[in-house]
Amino acid sequence: MKLSIIVPCFNEQEVIRETHKRLVQVDYMGMEPEIIYVNDGSRDNTLSILKEIAGEDGRAKVVSFQKNFGHQPAVSAGIKYASGDALVVIDADLQDPPDLIPKMIEKWREGYDIVYGKRAKRKGESIFKLITAWGYYRVLGFLGGDFIPKDTGDFRLIDRKVADFLNSLSERNRFLRGLTAWAGFRSIPVEYVRDERFAGETKYTLKKMLRLAEDGITSFSDKPLKLSFGIGALAGVLGFLYMIASIVIWVMGNPLGSLHFVLSLLSILMALLFVCIGVVGLYLSRIYDEAKGRPYYIIGETVNFED
Ligand code: UDP
Ligand code: MG
Repeated sequence: MKLSIIVPCFNEQEVIRETHKRLVQVDYMGMEPEIIYVNDGSRDNTLSILKEIAGEDGRAKVVSFQKNFGHQPAVSAGIKYASGDALVVIDADLQDPPDLIPKMIEKWREGYDIVYGKRAKRKGESIFKLITAWGYYRVLGFLGGDFIPKDTGDFRLIDRKVADFLNSLSERNRFLRGLTAWAGFRSIPVEYVRDERFAGETKYTLKKMLRLAEDGITSFSDKPLKLSFGIGALAGVLGFLYMIASIVIWVMGNPLGSLHFVLSLLSILMALLFVCIGVVGLYLSRIYDEAKGRPYYIIGETVNFED
């Protein structure tokens, strides 16, 4: 049995040697490791160091991008090039402990298709990152991504069939942890303490984090599109009540009643506008769904079918 380890690397010259050292020390429980480093267009010496490592150690392989495409594409490429019976995705900066891999293999052997690392605790992260990460998973859950495990990253072991599923998808904006959860594979968490970065700075800039956050929401929720419909309907009801109230005070002799009447008319018109935009949103969300071209069913297993 073969295990592919996928390590996305963007400007990781300070850590990559240490990472390799740690990765080869791991007990792979009898599996043969293949370590695939995906160089995501690094602008430092990462690529040449990776080539050195691959020259010294046949277990190391390198896939290199022309330019920086981002973390999710790097992981996707690694999965495509991997040939293992199971695959592990791990960050290059040793924030995900390699020592958790044997435990993941154990769970996989028990029959789980996905064993994902769940962050029980994060060390050395800024308050800002802690709060935004916490809040993000809650918002994502509220908007319809509640099947996506909270507080997990891409550190996980996946079975070959999950890799084949991911390879079969044609979507470009990939939120991998969402896609695998969406497909409904048998999964189980293993908890771990997320360490501090071994060296160097975070490569996930605020811009990249926002991009990832947006991908997660837009590819699994059409609620924002449908929101204007709800807002419009609510505003319409309120506008109508407002109109009744204005008529009442008008009839009772308050001269301001007429002004309120006109204002209520305006708010009802505005509400109508929102409803109309909402309707467009409803259709747009269908088109978006179709354009994504995801398979609309995924078969887990069949019995006695032969072709
Ligand atoms: N990474 C990448 N491409 C990018 C940004 C990051 O391949 O554009 C890699 C990076 O080298 C690391 C992993 O993704 O292996 C996670 O990045 P980082 O540790 O900087 O993120 P953080 O842990 O701060 O969220
Ligand atoms: Mg990190």
